[in-house]
Amino acid sequence: MLIKRLKLSGFKSFVDPTELHIEPGLTGIVGPNGCGKSNLLEAIRWVMGENSPKSMRGGGMEDVIFAGTERRPARDFAEVTLLAERQRGDVVHLLGDTRRSEEEANDNNPLFGDSDDPELEIVRRIERDAGSAYRANGRDVRAKDVSLIFADAATGAHSPALVSQGRIAAAIAAKPTERRQMLEEAAGISGLHVRRKDAEQKLRAAETNMARLEDILADQD
Ligand code: ATP
Repeated sequence: MLIKRLKLSGFKSFVDPTELHIEPGLTGIVGPNGCGKSNLLEAIRWVMGENSPKSMRGGGMEDVIFAGTERRPARDFAEVTLLAERQRGDVVHLLGDTRRSEEEANDNNPLFGDSDDPELEIVRRIERDAGSAYRANGRDVRAKDVSLIFADAATGAHSPALVSQGRIAAAIAAKPTERRQMLEEAAGISGLHVRRKDAEQKLRAAETNMARLEDILADQD
């Protein structure tokens, strides 16, 4: 997955619509303290499904909405759009998709629309008192779907590729379980864990139904 463009509106200090093109090669963002460099990285994590306000340096998720300054009123919403390009080898499964073939799953994934179109546009929008909503290539999707797309592509809100301030120190001090999580994210298998949990829940529900069915059948004998 190659991130190509980022659009922000009303997100933290980016009150006016702002577009960042990420060209091939190295992109550097420079600016004085407090100009919003970290906010850009947070915008990438946020659109990929970050759900911890604390890790966005806020008390609640609505703190990502432009809070106003002496000269400008606060905004009612924040929106971040991420345009990415699917790379060869990216695996994208739909929730509940049990097909074995990765290629087949990619080709039939409506989140990608036409399978010849390698572009993926994810939009996350938050409105005051209304929470977040996501769109993928123009379709309404769930937060979980977006997190899975990126988890499968070995990236996402907690990707080790996104190194924010203090993260190196945190990695050194991390517990073995946390380090394992980092390695699993880097290896692109975090999505499998989410799916395994889903499958286990479904299995438990099916077992409960089976037990009830057996009770009913026993009553009828
Ligand atoms: P440094 O070089 O010091 O790490 P930086 O360039 O990474 O700074 P950020 O930390 O990204 O800067 O930006 C901080 C700025 O964003 C502060 O001026 C802060 O007031 C502003 N900011 C954060 N959240 C909001 C918000 N919800 N509304 C308005 N401004 C915000």
